[in-house]
Amino acid sequence: MEKKFSEDTLCVQGGWQPKNGEPRVLPIYQSTTFKYDTSEQMANLFDLKENGYFYTRLQNPTNDAVAGKIAALEGGVAAMLTSSGQAATFYSIFNICEAGDHFVSASAIYGGTFNLFAVTMKKLGIEVSFVDQDASEEEIAKAFRPNTKALFAETIANPVLSVLDIEKFARIAHTNGVPLVIDNTFATPINCRPFEFGADIVIHSTTKYMDGHASAVGGCIVDSGNFDWEAYGNKFAGLTEPDPSYHGLAYTKSFGKGAYITKATVQLMRDFGSIPSPQNAFLLNLGLETLHLRVPRHCENAQKVAEYLEKNPKVAWVNYSGLPSNKYYALAQKQFRNGQSCGVVTFGLKGGRDTSIKFMDNLELAAIVTHVADARTCVLHPASHTHRQLSDEQLIAAGVRPDLIRFSVGIEGANDILADLEQALGKI
Ligand code: PLP
Repeated sequence: MEKKFSEDTLCVQGGWQPKNGEPRVLPIYQSTTFKYDTSEQMANLFDLKENGYFYTRLQNPTNDAVAGKIAALEGGVAAMLTSSGQAATFYSIFNICEAGDHFVSASAIYGGTFNLFAVTMKKLGIEVSFVDQDASEEEIAKAFRPNTKALFAETIANPVLSVLDIEKFARIAHTNGVPLVIDNTFATPINCRPFEFGADIVIHSTTKYMDGHASAVGGCIVDSGNFDWEAYGNKFAGLTEPDPSYHGLAYTKSFGKGAYITKATVQLMRDFGSIPSPQNAFLLNLGLETLHLRVPRHCENAQKVAEYLEKNPKVAWVNYSGLPSNKYYALAQKQFRNGQSCGVVTFGLKGGRDTSIKFMDNLELAAIVTHVADARTCVLHPASHTHRQLSDEQLIAAGVRPDLIRFSVGIEGANDILADLEQALGKI
């Protein structure tokens, strides 16, 4: 059913389609286990000879329905929920990289992802090279090596808000024989569907707009099914060669376009176990049911905030791709539905870092929280909070100016948000 409907309808009705007499609302299968009549049936499930539920660490019907909704929204063939966005990011790369491998990532990415790639994955023997996503294709291509297995970037980078030219990145990835993995958290499939621009894998921190109410940490990985893992000899051996932990089954041969998500589920999730609780998947589904209404409202409010800030004499700079003065305006108009990017605006104040902190303390409606993309307006100073382990030089290298305020515009009345900014700016 999924393909025939608009994103709006998929948000409301995708994923869970009850049969006659079944609950209209997605049920919470709050069960770790599933019962079978014969031992042989259970053995077949363990051998992946039959499809079915047996243990929630691998699969659960509530989680799968929500993953199905997100897959449909992104236009992918399969998806898997994870217990956090971090887990989704890690699995998306670890599913194709092992010790001795290398991947390339844009440097303008979420700080937690940067640490995961630069520090923790290095300990596992996987190396990353960071590139400037605005550099030329030739320049970026120089980072690739014979053992490079993936290219990673964010559609809209958190917190620097650079907009990725997805078609350019897809070209670079495919010329170098690797898949393009995109973190589409900030844009959401309401504003951008990276598969339409050539991306192969999409990941999300569903903690953000998808849940939208700051109630459940979660993540998701979606596969387009478009990358041909078998076209490169044994470069992606984990997918194309026999897996000894499943009696020599090869994922691409047994599962075709479902190979990548099947491997992530039955191997990585089996072994690492970052599965969301079905209760959290249920909450995520409630959020998704209004995603198509909330995202445009976030963007409309953010546009008003950005325009207001741009005119305010106390503001040194504003970064929002909906402003015609913005470096990414033309790309945003081309790549995003109605040119709308997300609800997050960044800016700096004349007076720098200390003034930024004082301004934030003056806010009354907007709350200081370590969160973003929430229905409630919230604010953060990355240099003091999420990125506080970085020196000023490292901050600048990551594109995060020390005075940068990340203002995540909610879906309250725009005039109330503007009034809060006005009173807080009036006190500095
Ligand atoms: N990707 C992006 C763009 C994020 O902003 C975040 C968190 O802020 C993550 C991934 C990590 O997600 P989570 O906090 O759900 O683990």
